[in-house]
Amino acid sequence: MVDFAAIREEFPILDQEIHGHPLVYLDSAATSQKPQCVIDAEAEFYRTINAGVHRGAHELAARSTVAFEEARTKVAHLVGANAEEGQEEVVVTGGATAGLNLLATAFGNASLGRGGEAAKRFALKPGDEIVVSKAEHHSVLLPFQELAYRTGATLKWFDLTEDGRIRSDTADEVITERTKVVAITHVGNTTGAITDIAPIVRRAHEVGAVFILDACQSVPHLKVDFHALDVDFAAWSAHKMYGPTGVGFLYGKRELLEALPPANFGGSMVELAWMDQPAQYMEPPARFEAGTQPVAQVVAAGVAADWMMAIGMENIEAHERTIAAELLKLGDIDGVRILGPRENVDRIGTVAFDVAGVHPHDVGQFIDAQGIAIRVGHHCAQPVHRHFGLYASNRASSGVYNTVADAQALVDAVAKVRPFFK
Ligand code: PLP
Repeated sequence: MVDFAAIREEFPILDQEIHGHPLVYLDSAATSQKPQCVIDAEAEFYRTINAGVHRGAHELAARSTVAFEEARTKVAHLVGANAEEGQEEVVVTGGATAGLNLLATAFGNASLGRGGEAAKRFALKPGDEIVVSKAEHHSVLLPFQELAYRTGATLKWFDLTEDGRIRSDTADEVITERTKVVAITHVGNTTGAITDIAPIVRRAHEVGAVFILDACQSVPHLKVDFHALDVDFAAWSAHKMYGPTGVGFLYGKRELLEALPPANFGGSMVELAWMDQPAQYMEPPARFEAGTQPVAQVVAAGVAADWMMAIGMENIEAHERTIAAELLKLGDIDGVRILGPRENVDRIGTVAFDVAGVHPHDVGQFIDAQGIAIRVGHHCAQPVHRHFGLYASNRASSGVYNTVADAQALVDAVAKVRPFFK
């Protein structure tokens, strides 16, 4: 049995009052709080081994390089990726947004003929198709929409069921022989729904398309194995999985990373550079890690990955399911509508809701006055809000530190919103 009450104690930020009430943090889909071991790891790095990685003959540089690569290995273990030297499948990025833009830019470069024969599988031309879904965060939608504009490809999308699930059952119609790229979220950041990606991945591969997974909202909450899921690429952020801000990861099947041209150019990603001929780039992952990396943050993200694995992703999943069950009671309140599946099945503890007749900012402020932090707005997912006939909503989202009492406090507070604003 995991002692989740003791785990909550590891988060110093939660031990405070907001507006005279104990803080109830239900905004982990935006960013998670950090356990003491992650906070300490970053400071310890600066105190003891701070140095640039992969260069320098001095001892501190050697130690920081080892710590950086060990962190990459820990993160790879969390998501079932290869970590052996020369076979690495995890690239360090500035976050999920940076990773998704890296892919879209690299595909654009391939479309211009960069990367040679091997990169042709990523090249797009007019008539080709890029497929996303209406449930995407703007970090998926916009880079691939721009890629479509740049290459003349057509952007298509999966529609949603009434309760906001991606219509995986339509994969055979939406994905065609002309589809080259499919980019889909694993878990909706508004609906909390887990996408049934298997039929989409199968169909994408059947037509030779590359499948990209937005794993931002799955890696922190579910046991995820990218090899088992057979996805080609996946992007996620460290700050939503109890790690630091400013850093994220991009998974790629090794053979695809080897074929992909770089997207960012500069130091530490080149074998040979000349004035009068093209540079010769390094093998992955270095090819995609131009410039000085956020080393302290990567090391701390590795600590976060280890910490999550020590608790056990199945245990985290089961714990958060109990929070989700409580949060879903929001739907029983008169005038409150849940934007996403009502059943506690194939979903996580992210529950967006609308309170009839009350603007989300008013709801958010009313809730905040009771020390409860939730998100209001469109959560960088406007099309999914349009699907529900709204511009904005309220969103509660759980983390490993939440208790059933936290969720009950929110439900009680939301029950008072409409009577208050009447
Ligand atoms: N994708 C999803 C589903 C998200 O929830 C988020 C963050 O809210 C992102 C992508 C973008 O992540 P980041 O802002 O950390 O780059």
